[in-house]
Amino acid sequence: MPTAGVFLLSDVVPEPWWHRPLDKLTRSEWEALCDGCGRCCLAKIEPEDGEGVLFTRVACRLLDTETCRCLDYTHRLQAVPDCQDLNCDNIHEIDWLPSTCAYRLRREGKPLPDWHPLLSGDGESVHNAGISVRGRVIGEHHVHPDGLEEHIVHWVESGG
Ligand code: SF4
Ligand code: SF4
Repeated sequence: MPTAGVFLLSDVVPEPWWHRPLDKLTRSEWEALCDGCGRCCLAKIEPEDGEGVLFTRVACRLLDTETCRCLDYTHRLQAVPDCQDLNCDNIHEIDWLPSTCAYRLRREGKPLPDWHPLLSGDGESVHNAGISVRGRVIGEHHVHPDGLEEHIVHWVESGG
């Protein structure tokens, strides 16, 4: 019988890598942390009163609205000048990330939710949980820039 307070080495479960601070992640870990929701790829409006950022249901032209992944991730910054590169140098400055975003959660020291593919082991779980933008957005080519306000949504910030 093991003595109380003594643990076998085999009992020690290593912390998952995504519990490490963001600036301690490798490049591949950083990329894998993204849940693939596509919410950050929606057009946003900055109100004149400076009160936060409003999300719309209008998707970037490079967002595949079925997979919720970028169609040209490697060249995205050249292809779409407004695309925001997320990295450990700027992650603490970006104040509009959705409340469900894995980078925001880890920045705030919060755990990843059960539907995150890293926990579920299933890339579809972010869609099945109703977190991704699949099925509820329209492409930017369908919307005149002056009409963006008609497409403001609140499910991004409410986490729904
Ligand atoms: S909101 Fe965050 S977790 Fe979702 S796709 Fe964008 S970077 Fe990835
Ligand atoms: S270029 Fe790609 S990563 Fe950037 S906002 Fe558009 S779809 Fe998202």
